[in-house]
Amino acid sequence: MTLKKVIHRKSAPNTESKCKEICDEESMNYIKSLQIQCRKNRATKDPLVKSNEQWDMPRVVCSCGKPGSNIISIDSCRATIKASNCHPKLTKVLPGPLNSKFPLKGMGISGRGFRVGHCAEPHAANTLLRMTNCNVSHIVFGTAFRTEDCTFRDYCLTCKATFKQLK
Ligand SMILES: [Zn+2]
Repeated sequence: MTLKKVIHRKSAPNTESKCKEICDEESMNYIKSLQIQCRKNRATKDPLVKSNEQWDMPRVVCSCGKPGSNIISIDSCRATIKASNCHPKLTKVLPGPLNSKFPLKGMGISGRGFRVGHCAEPHAANTLLRMTNCNVSHIVFGTAFRTEDCTFRDYCLTCKATFKQLK
């Protein structure tokens, strides 16, 4: 079973704040179904459940959308986006090659972000871009939630360097 990562809402949000609100609602729904599915997978130990169907909970979930569009894209942090699957508009704004460390030594940025293309945010944005081909700057992100306790998590340095709207 694969969890639905793209939600087609009946109506499109018309403002950024409404879009954020809907993203958060869909992230929460997603986390709930993840929790149920992970419990089921662990309980059954079904040999037919493929290894890529996530036996363990991802740590963070984030959704994104765009005002005027009814598509909400949800994703979690997991394996880095594959270059062959990365939308050219996303490739263009990434702060380094996929899976590279960020920031690199000598960039004058303190702190550490996750590897480029690893987080929930670029995964969700990549799907949205592939479906709508919108501008990266028009993407509205919801809150990044820890799946463990559904609390808010700061966007990492890599995500902030990728998406100017997260600053
Ligand atoms: Zn990040």
